[in-house]
Amino acid sequence: MTTTEAVRGTAEPGIIEHLDVLIVGAGISGVGGAYHLTKQRPGTSFVVLEGLDSFGGTWWTHRYPGIRSDSDLHTFGYRFKPWTGPPIATAEEILSYMGEVIDENDLADHIRYNHRISNARWSNEDKRWTIEATQTDTGEPRRFTANFLWMCQGYYRHSEGYTPEWEGMADFEGEIIHPQTWPEDLEYAGKKVVVIGSGATTATVVPAIAADAEHVTVLQRSPTYFIPGRNRIDLAETLRELNVDEEWIHEIVRKKILHDQAIFTQRAFDEPEKVKSELLAGVRANLPEGYDMETHFTPSYRPWRQRIAFVPDADIFKGIASGKASMVTDEIERFTGLGILLKSGEELEADIIVTATGFNMNVLGDIDFEIDGEPVDFSETVNYRGMMFTGVPNLLWVFGYFRASWTLRADLLADFVCRLLAHMDEKGAERVDVQLRPEDKDMELLPWIDPENFNPGYLMRAMDLLPKRGDKPEWQHTQDYWHEKDDIPAIDLDGAEFVYG
Ligand SMILES: Cc1cc2nc3c(=O)[nH]c(=O)nc-3n(C[C@H](O)[C@H](O)[C@H](O)COP(=O)(O)OP(=O)(O)OC[C@H]3O[C@@H](n4cnc5c(N)ncnc54)[C@H](O)[C@@H]3O)c2cc1C
Repeated sequence: MTTTEAVRGTAEPGIIEHLDVLIVGAGISGVGGAYHLTKQRPGTSFVVLEGLDSFGGTWWTHRYPGIRSDSDLHTFGYRFKPWTGPPIATAEEILSYMGEVIDENDLADHIRYNHRISNARWSNEDKRWTIEATQTDTGEPRRFTANFLWMCQGYYRHSEGYTPEWEGMADFEGEIIHPQTWPEDLEYAGKKVVVIGSGATTATVVPAIAADAEHVTVLQRSPTYFIPGRNRIDLAETLRELNVDEEWIHEIVRKKILHDQAIFTQRAFDEPEKVKSELLAGVRANLPEGYDMETHFTPSYRPWRQRIAFVPDADIFKGIASGKASMVTDEIERFTGLGILLKSGEELEADIIVTATGFNMNVLGDIDFEIDGEPVDFSETVNYRGMMFTGVPNLLWVFGYFRASWTLRADLLADFVCRLLAHMDEKGAERVDVQLRPEDKDMELLPWIDPENFNPGYLMRAMDLLPKRGDKPEWQHTQDYWHEKDDIPAIDLDGAEFVYG
């Protein structure tokens, strides 16, 4: 591999840098990738290109009141940097943790902000990617070449969230806000707010605004599962009282959380009815006597088919119990001047309507890819273990877990990239991609994720853009951390599915 080599002034105008590795995105995955690269492959030349004006990705983009994680930071945090605060963290706390990782490891010089990548072209002759970006603050084009692309772009478009089209939206006289683009100066005190949707975002935003708003109504089509609990891990506190090192606490608490989650996930598959009744009992305990649980908090699907939001200190339920927030389970007929007319005939009056209706999934950062001048259609490729695509060379895609913390997979894949790069060096290879083996040729190709297994709306809406899945473990994204933690480090890089050149 080469070291950084300034090639300004070469025959091809606009090329400013050639790199061993180019990381796309400075969210938790990209910053983690940069850390692992410096530790596991010192001397590798690399940059992280980030379209926004700072690091953090999800935690920089989302600014709605109360924004916080819905999984614990011992496992959402990196395995290499102890998390010392309460398990559920605010965006600000997560950003400050990531900032420390950048500072402590001198990563800042590698990150280029305001660099939005529009296309990436692979040349089999040159065995490298050419990446075109625009510097968003100046409008100037920027061009890089790289031997390897590490795609840490996340899974949704950061510029705007997903809002369905409802009849009459233009008639509504109040404000319609998507949480992803929450205006800093939004005045909700003393106002009637309707929040559409009942996922993790709603569980966060409602308690944060309920005290000041006149009233907050959560309008959901169907109920969701929640796990109320304290924002504290007793084991961590006990270990702290015993003056155990934070590094040890981090490791022990991670192990304990992952152990408990493995049991929970398995039980959700083996005895869904029992798990369902336990989850419902947890919610019921936080609601007033006689509350209509059946209508508002009893989902029809089995637990874990969508992410389950942890509700620290049961705060959304406290809002409901106090009368400042209420649930409506119904469907939207249309918007009106004053609010929302429901299919039941009821009308919800609102000054502000918050559409917590999800994301626009973007598979690979809205970047146009070409190989030798031919556009790449990722939906025509088969996905290798949710990380590489058949026929697409020198590229790794980070897509984390839904049922466990995303970062667990980002860390695992970082080890994989570093191992793959080392293997290429040993072989003297400049190119690697994955291909179906002879035994895979007749394999049935299926949608990327089995909707029976996991089916959030943003994934279902984007299924036609996503790569295909096969029926063998190599060609599936199992979403199973507990197997992948052993399987990914053990991948045989000389297996027949890897083709080097
Ligand atoms: C509100 C919210 C709360 C969440 N809470 C949790 C949680 O508690 N636990 C959990 O496991 N998961 C959670 N998730 C999922 C979460 O998004 C991921 O876990 C994680 O933050 C993703 O990190 P990432 O770095 O892979 O992607 P992102 O955070 O999406 O960052 C990707 C970065 O890549 C940049 N980028 C993308 N395309 C381009 C391009 N073409 N050019 C340049 N830059 C580009 C983006 O600007 C962005 O900064 C949450 C998601 C949301 C929206």
